[in-house]
Amino acid sequence: MKNLINLPLLVNLSLLFIFTALTTTDSRAAHPSWLKDSMSRLEKELLTKYGEIRKDQLIRGMKQVGDFWREEDGDAAAFEDFVRGNFAGDEKVRDAIFTRFQSLLEKIDGSMHEIDIALDRQTDLNLGPIYPFDRVFASYGVSAHIMDDFFTNKLAFVVLLNFPQTTLEQRLNEGEKWTRRQWAEARLVQRFSKRIPASVNLALARAGSASDQYIADYNIWMYHLLDNDGERLFPPRLRLLSHWNLRDELKANYENSKNGLAKQRMIIKVMERIVDQTIPAVVINNPHVDWNPYTNKLTAAAVSDSDEDPAADMRISDDPEPDTRYRIWLDDFLASRMVDEYSPTAPTLIERRFNEDREIPEERVREMFEQVCGSPLAARVAQVIRKRLGRDLEPLDLWYNGFRSTGKYTEAELDKIVSEKYPTPRAYKDDMPRFLRLLGFPGEKADQIAGNILVEAARGSGHASGGEMRGQPARLRTRVNRDGMDYKGFNIAVHEMGHNVEQTISMNFIDHTLLGGVPNTAFTEAFAFVFQENDLMLLGLDPQEDEQSEALKALNDFWMTMEISAVSLVDMEAWHWLYDHPQATAAQFKKALIKIAKDVWNRYYASLLGKKDVYLLGIYSHMIHSFLYLPDYPIGHLISVQVREQMQKAGNIGVEFERMALQGNIAPDLWMKGATGSPVGAEAMLEATEKALWVLE
Ligand SMILES: [Zn+2]
Repeated sequence: MKNLINLPLLVNLSLLFIFTALTTTDSRAAHPSWLKDSMSRLEKELLTKYGEIRKDQLIRGMKQVGDFWREEDGDAAAFEDFVRGNFAGDEKVRDAIFTRFQSLLEKIDGSMHEIDIALDRQTDLNLGPIYPFDRVFASYGVSAHIMDDFFTNKLAFVVLLNFPQTTLEQRLNEGEKWTRRQWAEARLVQRFSKRIPASVNLALARAGSASDQYIADYNIWMYHLLDNDGERLFPPRLRLLSHWNLRDELKANYENSKNGLAKQRMIIKVMERIVDQTIPAVVINNPHVDWNPYTNKLTAAAVSDSDEDPAADMRISDDPEPDTRYRIWLDDFLASRMVDEYSPTAPTLIERRFNEDREIPEERVREMFEQVCGSPLAARVAQVIRKRLGRDLEPLDLWYNGFRSTGKYTEAELDKIVSEKYPTPRAYKDDMPRFLRLLGFPGEKADQIAGNILVEAARGSGHASGGEMRGQPARLRTRVNRDGMDYKGFNIAVHEMGHNVEQTISMNFIDHTLLGGVPNTAFTEAFAFVFQENDLMLLGLDPQEDEQSEALKALNDFWMTMEISAVSLVDMEAWHWLYDHPQATAAQFKKALIKIAKDVWNRYYASLLGKKDVYLLGIYSHMIHSFLYLPDYPIGHLISVQVREQMQKAGNIGVEFERMALQGNIAPDLWMKGATGSPVGAEAMLEATEKALWVLE
């Protein structure tokens, strides 16, 4: 079975190698012609000095250095001098290298972070006007050249010469038996397992910023949408960014009994036209044109809701957007592919995402998603939704969000309680030791952790930034209004505090700082969600968690996870298609993407939502600008159920939190086994869904 799954991938990869070999001009040069001779000279010389026992270590080390050595690093004599001078022939020297690199890399990371925090201060915090030069400071990356420097000064080669590179397979299969020190060594070498030329990084950054910009300006002016009766369903000035705002507006309209459904259907039509690119180019981010998305008919805006006049040269043409969406995505792919040849251990973006960033093989991730989407529970959840809505389901119910039971407190009541308790960031900061005690952290630990977290008033909604060396504070950024925090801000602050506590524990209390952090971002989100769910308890209010509302929450989790899993499957298939068709045009890619989206839909949603051949799953903007990041979201949901269940089972959040976080950045499955006894998987969520259905049915 496994071989069958792997086979197409292997075939694609070998084709790709042939393709790159034929077309590359500025390639990582083949090994220098002198390398083999130098290596055998050194082998004879150094083994005489240190003994045959060092043979494997030396040969592997020289090969690892040779793989990255370029002409500008020096000739045969320079290579030989380097190896002679830096090969650790005994354990004492090897220990010294490890210890020194660990502590100095921590110093560099922490110091660079300190500078970055200072450079971003004016744009991140609520501190008054931002001048153009403030933005330049904020976008200046002081550490951008460190990797280049480490190869130029050969410190990277010192690591490659003395510590083994590991494959994902080794980390997964042998990692369980490794010592903590071996894990730390593996992480040290991973830092230097790529040497990407500045020109390639620049091309990648350009593609990234072009796609960011394309997405950031993709607004639809909703007042200018007309239905078949010429009615405007949406209010003036409502400008929605695709896809986030469109989707959230759709969700919000479940509560609108007047014309909610009509608005939702119209949003779906707009989304379809974005995916298939039949959207007239002139309506994108333009309040001066009225548009009927059903007939695609355009007229000059009959009413104005914008402060700006139309551009003098604006022409109302019904030319569709010229497949720009797919051209930009294609450009992401072409830029990513430039990295491939410099990334010998993961020579495609797909492998870099799964094997390096997530460290869960793609086949396993796909299996988990298919397990969720293909679960027989989905039909039962859909049945619950149908009952709650009192109508047959349609494709738009992909985003059904009405599982919440009405809370005991209104938002206004909560706002009042929060703003009285927390008028300033300081007031929140002072209450943190108490919060952490309430969450089950032992007293002294609670004080120590809270003492490491700064609370600052952010401009945006909130974020958490951890220290990168011991003793460096973690920062909780949250929104505080003039009259104090509101409930939404508090809820986000509690979420961010979860990140900060994880950051504090896994940097300050861990055995090796090279293992600081978590296996991937999904894990720190899991911690943050657990905190966030307890926000009412922290306010001293009755969270009123009865069996019913718990069950609804579980179904909500499932329905959201199923949706984002299906979207992720589309994203994954799309990248495979791109690697299979590197010469494709934007039009060909569009056609393929629509087919992929339909196939995934037909497999999982057609029977639940009453329609075949829907390609809505292709609407996510992340696909265009996040380079295969989407699968992190469903993995995050699955992980967070596993972590939450374990804490519930243990009857304590704080103690379990610390025990889990202290594992640090090891392989995800290993981490999860240590935390809960099972690897990362969908079982916990499916069990919770089954239990919830039992309660509700
Ligand atoms: Zn978060």
